[in-house]
Amino acid sequence: MILLDDVSKSYAVRGERKVIVEGLSARISDGTRLGLLGRNGAGKSTLIHCITGLAKQSEGSIEVLGFDTLHDFRTTRRLVGLVPQEITYDPFFTPLESLMIQMGLMGVEPNRVRAENLLKTFALDEKRDAYTRTLSGGMKRRLLVAQALVHEPRLLFLDEPTAGVDVELRRELWQEVEGLRAAGTTIVLTTHYIEEAERLADRIGILHKGQLLLLESRDSLMERHDGRSLEDIYLELIRKADGRPAP
Ligand code: ATP
Ligand code: MG
Repeated sequence: MILLDDVSKSYAVRGERKVIVEGLSARISDGTRLGLLGRNGAGKSTLIHCITGLAKQSEGSIEVLGFDTLHDFRTTRRLVGLVPQEITYDPFFTPLESLMIQMGLMGVEPNRVRAENLLKTFALDEKRDAYTRTLSGGMKRRLLVAQALVHEPRLLFLDEPTAGVDVELRRELWQEVEGLRAAGTTIVLTTHYIEEAERLADRIGILHKGQLLLLESRDSLMERHDGRSLEDIYLELIRKADGRPAP
């Protein structure tokens, strides 16, 4: 379970405090697949960074499977896997080396067979020994997904994992998410492809100007809106929150 208790995050920008996430409380049960939606700058990545230990919240507390993300940082960091929105990689390592190193970082014994299997799963076996910098953009993103999975995390955060990947990989990634779900992994996914969230998520969260506008089961949300598409429902809710009339 992920427990967020009155979490706020602010940054000092040129001497002025800018609140990015504001007083957010939520409970995400084990095995949930949460689709976290919200427009550019809503605070999705910031929130994910606070949960996964890349950033510290300014106020409030976050628990991951009963461990506090600030006090038990090392424990919570190893319970989660993160596919970051920004593509990051070490240009001088190969995909195989990157996975082996990531295993070490995550506190598991480097296992070549597992690394090779992951490369196969994400169609990177042909690039196994190439410098990562020579991979295409989509291939780099595939590698990020594989890296996030090396330690078989119980919670997986996918921050726009399908931006810039081809249709085939998108489908493969969806399949992979289905498999992880069957294994009981909790998944938090952000995406601007709303139909992707509609398909993959069983709960929908909408973050709007740093606040949680909604956190509800996908089915009940869609039932309440007479079977309209999630994209239509999302647009209506965002518009309402902005005080704008429906078109
Ligand atoms: P997107 O859909 O574009 O990925 P997002 O919902 O993930 O958007 P965030 O990346 O969380 O949005 O950013 C939320 C706000 O926080 C933005 O206004 C951004 O400029 C600001 N922000 C993020 N990181 C910092 C930082 N290190 N310092 C100052 N402001 C920041
Ligand atoms: Mg983001």
